Amino acid sequence: MLSRLNPRQREAVEYVGGPLLVLAGAGSGKTSVITTKIAYLIKECGIKAHKIAAVTFTNKAAREMKERVGKLVQGKESRGLTVSTFHNLGLNIIRKEHKTLGYKAGFSLFDDQDTKSLIKDLMHKDFQTDADIIGMVQHMISNWKNDLIEPEQALGLAENDKETLAAAVYREYDRHLQAYNAVDFDDLIRLPVRLFRDHPDILERWQNKIHYMLVDEYQDTNVSQYLLVKLIIGYRGALTVVGDDDQSIYAWRGARPENLVKLGEDFPSLRIVKLEQNYRSTSLILRAANTLIANNPHVYEKTLWSEMGQGEQIRVISCRNEDAEAERVVTEILTHRIKKDASYKDFSILYRGNHQSRILEIKLQAFQVPYKISGGTSFFARHEIKDIMGYLKILVNPDDDNAFLRVINMPRREIGPSTLEKLGTYANQRHISMFHACSELGLEQSLSEKQVDKLRRFNHWLEKTRQRCYQDDSISAIREMIHDIDYEGWLHQNSSSPQVAERRMANVRILVDSLQDTLKRMQDDDDSASIEDAIARLVLRDMMEQQAEEDDSDRVQLMTLHSAKGLEYPHVYIVGMEEDLLPHRNSIDDGNIEEERRLAYVGITRARQTLTLTMAAQRKQFGEMLNCTPSRFLDELPPEDLAWEGKEQEPDKAKRERGRAALDSLKKSLGL
Ligand code: ATP
Ligand code: MG
Repeated sequence: MLSRLNPRQREAVEYVGGPLLVLAGAGSGKTSVITTKIAYLIKECGIKAHKIAAVTFTNKAAREMKERVGKLVQGKESRGLTVSTFHNLGLNIIRKEHKTLGYKAGFSLFDDQDTKSLIKDLMHKDFQTDADIIGMVQHMISNWKNDLIEPEQALGLAENDKETLAAAVYREYDRHLQAYNAVDFDDLIRLPVRLFRDHPDILERWQNKIHYMLVDEYQDTNVSQYLLVKLIIGYRGALTVVGDDDQSIYAWRGARPENLVKLGEDFPSLRIVKLEQNYRSTSLILRAANTLIANNPHVYEKTLWSEMGQGEQIRVISCRNEDAEAERVVTEILTHRIKKDASYKDFSILYRGNHQSRILEIKLQAFQVPYKISGGTSFFARHEIKDIMGYLKILVNPDDDNAFLRVINMPRREIGPSTLEKLGTYANQRHISMFHACSELGLEQSLSEKQVDKLRRFNHWLEKTRQRCYQDDSISAIREMIHDIDYEGWLHQNSSSPQVAERRMANVRILVDSLQDTLKRMQDDDDSASIEDAIARLVLRDMMEQQAEEDDSDRVQLMTLHSAKGLEYPHVYIVGMEEDLLPHRNSIDDGNIEEERRLAYVGITRARQTLTLTMAAQRKQFGEMLNCTPSRFLDELPPEDLAWEGKEQEPDKAKRERGRAALDSLKKSLGL
């Protein structure tokens, strides 16, 4: 188990006497330290697997980590081990302690869209608001929650009208969430922290449950996540965190890389281990990454070297336009796969924004290259999945008005908007949910008999289905429910062709199968897990932009730079190396280039053997063809290590500035 590790890594694994920070650059084996240490704690230190919790940020990373641990510890020895995302850990805590927090079992998890639509409703009461303002308020509320600032404090802290407005919405929003028996994404961390602060007895119980914690990608923790870790660890100090300040890319979500420094202040006995050997990339790739990141200021100095050989030059390819760029990348993958005797899954294509994947998808399909997109328009964003998820949500939490509204007329039950509005007003006045309002006798005074009858029929049907779901086999009850509403018939009426309807129905089946699978896996670990818990887990997975099919088949991997963190591929293509894309325009405008540089650093350091950077000379934006300027980050790479191709030669700063000035004037003339 330990023989593969270098002396520093070994030190990090074997040190269990107090809090430990492993601080090191990309590919130096930080995650490997965590996975080996889990096995070490179980096998050598006699700590039971169910007393160990390892957390990271994305589902993909958590799954990878689980796989890596699975190779070292198997079967009974690993039972009850927690390897999950921060949010999943939070969800588990809330699930077990919901009563103390004032939530009923089966509470709903609001996703980004639910949150948006609630904020929109709350703001519409006062005046018309556009999507930008709603987005801004949502972002501010999220930041407050991540910083553990309560609505009243936010009101007190507000310095201008904008902040006062957002804080007022925050207060209402929180009240409504509670009334809907719902929590949002940020609450998954904030509520456990609040719980532990207010209830030392409960905290003690959890401290006895979790004897050792390990945190990967520590540089991306925000204030509330850090506090959660600190509370759980308590006096014991049984903590290993690993991180790299150069890979901090979630400041926009409240991440605080300074948590790395804070750790030393909060735990004076903190031991720091630095790793310097990179086992992932060739020397040229590593040198490019190091040279680029040297342009950022540093909290900790790090040096990184590799014995993986010099490797090939980094190719920089300039293409005519985005179409040509996508085609070039795809045809290259086709030929390289053969030349290098590689598999499709050895290639990954990374980009700054999800929207960039569309053209790549078209080309991949045209050349019949199998591919998989992580994130973006996920499985869960599909209409049919949202519909059925709506039914699942209301099944376990009838107070979820958002879900109620999603499913009430799908399929059609001819309950019109004015009926729903009256029902909503009635429910609001009495502080009950719309579902419960349906069965109230007083409803007859505001609605006609016919309307009341329709609402009651729906209410009875749902109540019956709920009972079946809780008394019998829940999965069969859910399958029956989908049959009852004749969802398949509805899909056939509402799809462009029978094939499309079939495909959509197949997705619904995948969803139910995956629910069944999730429930089974949860029950293997914890006998008390129920259908509500399984549904909550699915909703969470949806929120973390995961695709339902978790297959390892041979496909080219496409994802954003953000979601590539922690992963590695033999051959990496980063597309769209242009100003305004990478660095992103918003960051240029805000003068926040450092985080974009770290993002580029994360991208470059995913590559093991070859790295190719591409760009387009022209790109369509707002329906217009615009000239693009090569990314400033290309200037920052060692010129002698780059092999340029295409018309564009090494960009110089003057040229870029000219390009940018021309672009600005064009935008101005277009009124953008
Ligand atoms: P990142 O910063 O990107 O998350 P990391 O520091 O977590 O990277 P790992 O993913 O743990 O790095 O390791 C990178 C690669 O190096 C993996 O393929 C891993 O198996 C390999 N590796 C780690 N340690 C060793 C070692 N001592 N000997 C050989 N290979 C190693
Ligand atoms: Mg890692």
